[in-house]
Amino acid sequence: MSGVIQLAYFAVAVVFILGLKAMSSPVTARKGIVWAGYAMIAATLVTFYTPGMQNYGLMITAIVTGGAVAWWSGKVVKMTDMPQMVAIYNGMGGGAAAAIAALEFARGGTHGVTATTLAVLGALIGSVAFSGSCVAFAKLQGIMTKTWRLPQQNLVNIVLAGLAVVLGLAIIVTETPPAVIVIAFFVVALVLGAILTMPIGGADMPVVISLLNAFTGLAVGFEGYVLGNPALIVAGIVVGASGTLLTQLMAKAMNRPIRNVIFTPLSGAAAGGGEAIEGTMKELSALDAASVMRYASKVIIVPGYGMAVAGAQHKVWEMAQLLEEGGVDVAFAIHPVAGRMPGHMNVLLAEAGVPYDKIFDLEEINADFPQADVALVIGANDVVNPVARTDKTSPIYGMPILNVDMAHNVIVVKRGQGAGYSGIENALFYKDNCRMLYGSAQQIIGEVITHVKALEV
Ligand code: NAP
Repeated sequence: MSGVIQLAYFAVAVVFILGLKAMSSPVTARKGIVWAGYAMIAATLVTFYTPGMQNYGLMITAIVTGGAVAWWSGKVVKMTDMPQMVAIYNGMGGGAAAAIAALEFARGGTHGVTATTLAVLGALIGSVAFSGSCVAFAKLQGIMTKTWRLPQQNLVNIVLAGLAVVLGLAIIVTETPPAVIVIAFFVVALVLGAILTMPIGGADMPVVISLLNAFTGLAVGFEGYVLGNPALIVAGIVVGASGTLLTQLMAKAMNRPIRNVIFTPLSGAAAGGGEAIEGTMKELSALDAASVMRYASKVIIVPGYGMAVAGAQHKVWEMAQLLEEGGVDVAFAIHPVAGRMPGHMNVLLAEAGVPYDKIFDLEEINADFPQADVALVIGANDVVNPVARTDKTSPIYGMPILNVDMAHNVIVVKRGQGAGYSGIENALFYKDNCRMLYGSAQQIIGEVITHVKALEV
């Protein structure tokens, strides 16, 4: 490949990395994603000038088709459906990496041992990421509602992984591998990805998606080496590294080692455990909620997945502004895994216009709850469950939570008595200082706003 092309790929990779770096701050995040996007377009254009490139018709068809589907789906996807969209796009990346390897195997033996080994690794990881992401998509989209766990699941995983390695080695040592070995290798790798992901459900799914994302990055990086394409190598490694870091951060925020996420999944059914909870849930009206908050000095609002589903962020901010006009100090507390994606709540609140200086992370705000007159929990559940602090037998024991139960009064907005994502009953709802405000978040916060306004008169 000519020096100019290499240099162009290098420049594109630098802009891509700078774009990602800019995404680390909410203020520069939008610019960052635009830079990274332009860098990817530039990388695609450079590919057209790569010597020996002839398939312009196919390339343009692929770019136009993929671009149109991505544009359309990006426009129509709801914020709450974002995790499954990430899952399926991620799967496409893994599938593409595996497909590149498949073509190279079909071409046969002129690659050398290093390139073939990397191609096999990329094909294995990419196939696992592809089928695993398809299963994750089906689960999150509600297409696959059952959580399948095979008898001796972990043994089956190990046998399949071993078989994939043996078949991969056969491809590496054979100059031109017979089609039957290549096909068997891909079938085993695809089945492995699906079988690994099928038992995982509930609260672990976003971690798995992030892990599969890291796999895809790695697979793309390996295939970049096989194709001699530095942009693919850099982009793949960046995605692999960031996916790995994100996976670790989420696992830490949930206090779930990654091996437990994969080998001993936590699902609603499997969650079990936990001490029996005593007490009853006590209800309050929207009028009472409005009065308690209107005459409070400090209110901390804790949003969760339910706020996202209800699309209540604008109403919540409207209510917060009314309270502030009345002299109440209002802050927003965000748990690192509130919602279904890291940053899910930050994005929604930013979209509603909540200033960044009103939004606090768990470590920043947890000490403030004992001084808060009201902690208003809106569609959050697992991330405020005090059993994570108190009950050693609970499956979520050790997960850092927002200490809302330490506020003088807790008001919980939810529609009914349903458990959280992990399927675990919430001890908070039964506490003496906690009251339930039943209703869908948007509608019930709307009612609270009406009452707060009436109290002003
Ligand atoms: P959650 O535990 O999923 O609970 C959401 C609550 O919202 C439910 O109790 C539900 O109760 C309520 N709800 C649903 N629709 C509503 C509506 N329209 N109006 C009002 N309330 C509504 O949510 P979370 O506290 O945000 O916890 C996030 C979960 O995802 C955790 O288990 C976490 O471990 C997991 N997770 C997240 C990430 C991430 O990156 N964010 C990563 C890994 C895992 P009702 O049905 O009774 O209304």
